[in-house]
Amino acid sequence: MKEYREMTSQELTALREELRQEYSEIQARGLSLNMARGKPDAEQLALSDAMWTIADASTPMVGEDGMDYRNYGLLFGTREARRLMGEIMGVSRENVIVGGSSSLTMMYDTLMRGMVFGMLHSPKPWYECPDRKFLCLVPGYDRHFAITQDLGFELVTVPLTESGPDMDLVEELVKDPSVKGIWCVPKYSNPSGITYSDETVRRLAAMETAAPDFTIMWDNAYGIHHLYPDAPDELADIFALAQEYGHEDRVIAFASTSKVTYPGAGIAALAASKANLDHIAAHMTHQTIGADKINMLRHVLFLQDLPHVKEHMAKHAALLRPKFELVLRMFEEQLREPGVARWTNPRGGYFITCQVPEGCAKKVVQLCAEAGVILTDAGATHPYKKDPQDSAIRIAPSYPPIGELEEAMKVFCLCVRLAAVEKLLGC
Ligand code: PMP
Repeated sequence: MKEYREMTSQELTALREELRQEYSEIQARGLSLNMARGKPDAEQLALSDAMWTIADASTPMVGEDGMDYRNYGLLFGTREARRLMGEIMGVSRENVIVGGSSSLTMMYDTLMRGMVFGMLHSPKPWYECPDRKFLCLVPGYDRHFAITQDLGFELVTVPLTESGPDMDLVEELVKDPSVKGIWCVPKYSNPSGITYSDETVRRLAAMETAAPDFTIMWDNAYGIHHLYPDAPDELADIFALAQEYGHEDRVIAFASTSKVTYPGAGIAALAASKANLDHIAAHMTHQTIGADKINMLRHVLFLQDLPHVKEHMAKHAALLRPKFELVLRMFEEQLREPGVARWTNPRGGYFITCQVPEGCAKKVVQLCAEAGVILTDAGATHPYKKDPQDSAIRIAPSYPPIGELEEAMKVFCLCVRLAAVEKLLGC
C-alpha cells in the first residue's frame, strides 16, 4: 500500500468506491456503541466492591481526630483521609482538604471564590476584572474549558507539546495582568496522555507573572493511573519547585478517587500552601460543616495507604492495558501506511488523541455516528468547542468491552480512511 496522498485520482476514486461499499455494509449492521466519555468499565468498578461491606455498625467510628465520624465536623476531612490523599498527591496531610466526591466541584468552587472574593493575592475579586483570561492547553479537557467559560473568562489557547505546555508562549502571555491562570493536567494528560517534563514544571513554577493572583490549576486526575506500573512516567514536584522560587501560593492541586474506586462516589481532594488553605477555609466554613466522613472512612479502610493503592491501581492497569494496546495496534495496522493520521502513545490515563487530516475530524465523528459508533464530539478538545484545524479526536478506550472496542475501532479506522480519501478527491 502507498500513502494516500501519493495516489492518482483514478486510484483514489477506486479506493473511495471500495471504502464506501465497506461503510454501507457496516451501517447495515445497525451497531450501537458508545465511546464518548472516559469511564471505567464494569470490571474495573467491581475491583472496589469490597467497599460495600468493609464498614458496618461494628466498625469503630471514632478516628485519629477523636471525633465520631457519624456526626458533623472536620471541615478539611478526617485526618486519615487527608493523609491518604496526601500520599496519593505527594504532599503532606497538613496541606490537604478532602472535600466531597468530585474534584471538579472543588475546582469550580476554587475559581468561584476567586470570582467573588478574590484569590489569596488578588488586588480585587476576579468579577471586577472584566477582561479576565485563562490559559487553556490544547488538546485539553472540555470540562475545564467549560468552567472558565461559565465564569466569564476569555479562553486563550496554548498548544500542548510532547513535554507539556508551549512554555515560550506561556511565559509571554503571563506578562498580561488580565491572564489569571492556567489549566494543567500534568500527568497522562486528558486527552493526549503526555506527562510534563521536569523542565516544563520548573518553568511553570519559576515564571514571573504580571498578575499577583495568577493560579495554576494543577489537576493531577491521573497521577497514579499508570498503564505500565513497573515503568511509570515521573512528574516533578511542583510545590517544591514553586517554593524554591517563592511562588508556592500560585499552585492549587486536585485529585480524586473517581477512577480509583467509583466515579462520582469517591473522595476528592485539594492541596495547597498553608496560606492558601487558611484563605479557602475562611470562606469554605460558611459553605459546609464538612464533607461525608463515612465515605472517607470506607475509602481509608479499603485503600489504606500508598502501597495498597498502587496494588489496586495495578489491577486497573491490567484491565485497561489490553484495550489501549488494541487501539494502538489497530491504528498502526490500519492508519500508518495510508499516512492518514497521527496519534499519541500514552503510558497512563484514560485517553488517546488521534489527529486526522485537517478539516476531517467533524466528518469522521459524524460518519462514525451514522454507523452506530458515538465518539467524543470533534472540537471538544478545544476552547469554545472549536478546533481551528478540525483535526483532533479524543479516543476513550476504557468503557466498552474489548470485543465492542475492536468493532468500534474498525469503524473508526474505516471512517478516517474514507474521510481522508474524500478530502483528497475534494468531495
Ligand atoms: N479532571 C480530569 C482531567 C478528568 O479527566 C476528570 C474525569 N474525566 C475529572 C477531573 C473529573 O474528576 P471528578 O470525578 O473528581 O470530579
